[in-house]
Amino acid sequence: MIRGDKRFNNIFFITTIAIILTVLALGYNLTYEKNRNNTFKNNTNLEDNSIVTSAEKESYLGAKGNKVVVVDAGHGGYDAGSIGQRGTREKDVTLAVALKLGLLLEKQDVKVIYTRKNDKVTWPSNNKQDLEARARISNNAGADLFISIHLNSYKMKNVRGTETYYSKGSIKGKEIAQLIQDQIVKDVKFEDRGIKPEDYSVFRNVIAPTVLVELGYINNKAEEALLKDSGYQDKFAKAMAKAILKYLKK
Ligand SMILES: [Zn+2]
Repeated sequence: MIRGDKRFNNIFFITTIAIILTVLALGYNLTYEKNRNNTFKNNTNLEDNSIVTSAEKESYLGAKGNKVVVVDAGHGGYDAGSIGQRGTREKDVTLAVALKLGLLLEKQDVKVIYTRKNDKVTWPSNNKQDLEARARISNNAGADLFISIHLNSYKMKNVRGTETYYSKGSIKGKEIAQLIQDQIVKDVKFEDRGIKPEDYSVFRNVIAPTVLVELGYINNKAEEALLKDSGYQDKFAKAMAKAILKYLKK
């Protein structure tokens, strides 16, 4: 073929366009694959964000010698939790009850590890890292039990009562949840809202049997008044300590 030939020019032009398009398509595809892999990786992290495996949980025997209980005062620091109609902050009540509970257990020679003992938290102001840090404290301590203390809140202001959550599928978790729930209902006389299986991230990340107690509803004015009352906080702490000791001694 001769340069300048019209047919040659057309073929040359079409070939050049085809090459450019192929290179562009290839580049796009590579970028797409890279992004897709990143997305997948992120999704994997989101879906499976537990820091321990279920096998680790199953083979876990807990502490040797003195029993170790992690007492976790819900929220704290940057995170106030729910706020009552009278301005009570969940994080203050959970801390007060956690300290009272810890003291009662310590008096019975239980080794108590607190995730926090005041309003200063050791983890970053980030909910995911916050919950993971609490779980790590428990896993590093080789705890026999992790108890997390919270107050409930609901848009309907007349809802009230105590409920206890345990890790879905955990036999020990269910057992201790029932003991705590029954003892609170009996001793504190808050309405019995029962025990419930859940899949909270803290349940997935803590190796030891884990329960989360929602003592009462902070948005219910009557319960808010009782929850911030030191005498009632003592009652809650005593009831939980009684149930925990029953569980640990068997
Ligand atoms: Zn809470």
